[in-house]
Amino acid sequence: MRVNLKRMEMLPGQKRTVAEEVNGSPEWLAGMHSQLDGGIAVTLTIEHTQFYWVILGQISAPVRLTCSRCLDEYSRVITGSFERIAVAPDAKVLREAADEVYLPLEEGSVDLSQAIEETLVLNIPMVPLCREDCSGLCPVCGQNLNHGSCSCKVETIDPRLEKLRELL
Ligand SMILES: [Zn+2]
Ligand SMILES: [Zn+2]
Repeated sequence: MRVNLKRMEMLPGQKRTVAEEVNGSPEWLAGMHSQLDGGIAVTLTIEHTQFYWVILGQISAPVRLTCSRCLDEYSRVITGSFERIAVAPDAKVLREAADEVYLPLEEGSVDLSQAIEETLVLNIPMVPLCREDCSGLCPVCGQNLNHGSCSCKVETIDPRLEKLRELL
């Protein structure tokens, strides 16, 4: 997503909001057991100060995830936010600042694709669950216990009681 800040002709102190739907790349979520399920809604609040543009971004993306407990697919809207500061391409801060908050203006515009990708990836849950109390799979027959119970007898032995039994 490229935003042409020069063309906005903002004066210092002015704020502008830009909303756009962006197509992400399927590669962004490769290896994360999830995939984009539509366009990413991006809202930017851009504030022009004397020497730079402060860009606050909000993203909202429909994603298909795989539950880590029952392995079912489910849909979620992943949201997140980022902040970037667009500066002139020769700005000293680009060489000196270690963080990636600063982005160079290229012919008056700035590329936010990487910021959007990073924000999306950071907000994908590490352990996706289709629901908080997902019952998971039967360890014996593999039945998805959210869809119904099976006839397996799974013995659950309290490890503390087990220790006690050894002593008796
Ligand atoms: Zn589940
Ligand atoms: Zn079973």
